[in-house]
Amino acid sequence: MDRSLANELRDTLASAHDAIRDLLEEGVELFERRPAILHAPVQAATAASEGTEGAEARSGPKASEAHPVRGLGPHPTLEAVRAALGDCTRCRLAAGRTQIVFGDGNPDADLLFVGEGPGEQEDLQGIPFVGRAGELLTQMIERGLQVPRRSVYICNIVKCRPPQNRTPLADEVAACRAFLDGQIDAVQPKVIVALGKPATSLLLGREVSITRVRGIFQEYRGIPLMPTYHPAFVLRQYTPENRRLVWEDLKAALARARERGGRFDA
Ligand code: URA
Repeated sequence: MDRSLANELRDTLASAHDAIRDLLEEGVELFERRPAILHAPVQAATAASEGTEGAEARSGPKASEAHPVRGLGPHPTLEAVRAALGDCTRCRLAAGRTQIVFGDGNPDADLLFVGEGPGEQEDLQGIPFVGRAGELLTQMIERGLQVPRRSVYICNIVKCRPPQNRTPLADEVAACRAFLDGQIDAVQPKVIVALGKPATSLLLGREVSITRVRGIFQEYRGIPLMPTYHPAFVLRQYTPENRRLVWEDLKAALARARERGGRFDA
């Protein structure tokens, strides 16, 4: 076979492998033979949060509407952000929730984790990451990194449980975006860990392949951001390799936070 054709084939196969892995990471396990628009939710949400033309019509609050968090200034308190969220009914997720799951942990944390959205247990208990994926995350933080979970801060891109734990839709993510930004502004962490593709894509403002970006520091408004696999994906694909990769990413995130003066009291 011609060498350039062989190279092209190899690259195409590698891209297909990455794409399938990303879909698995998002929980897609059934592949149908018909064209699909991949990851439209976060793309549209990202566009909406950046005020891209046309995005408002598809999703999210209008720029002209009073912004509930921006009015709080550059460093709001978590209490003020929570108060601005109120008994939120800005998107359809409000109808199905038991309660809002705002966030958990140290308001001055130097490491901040961002997940996707509450699951069943989180919805019932009002605390992020307390179900099976949460147990794994907590284990990785406490047994792996050897820091107490209460010393970090944990939140999600949406604060209400999506039905059947589906990926949040563009307008849901856009409606919640200001509150996530507000939480980050309040906590001012030294490092952010984005768990999975939706959180990473949203914070970076572009559609990413989590397989390609995980383990490589990015930046969110001047804060180093480490993308890694979502613990729910690691549970579904519980291989030594996936566990090792996430472990490496978390260790790197903690080390960077410490380099930047971060403290994690026992
Ligand atoms: N998965 C998430 O992304 N967030 C949670 O809070 C729980 C599971």
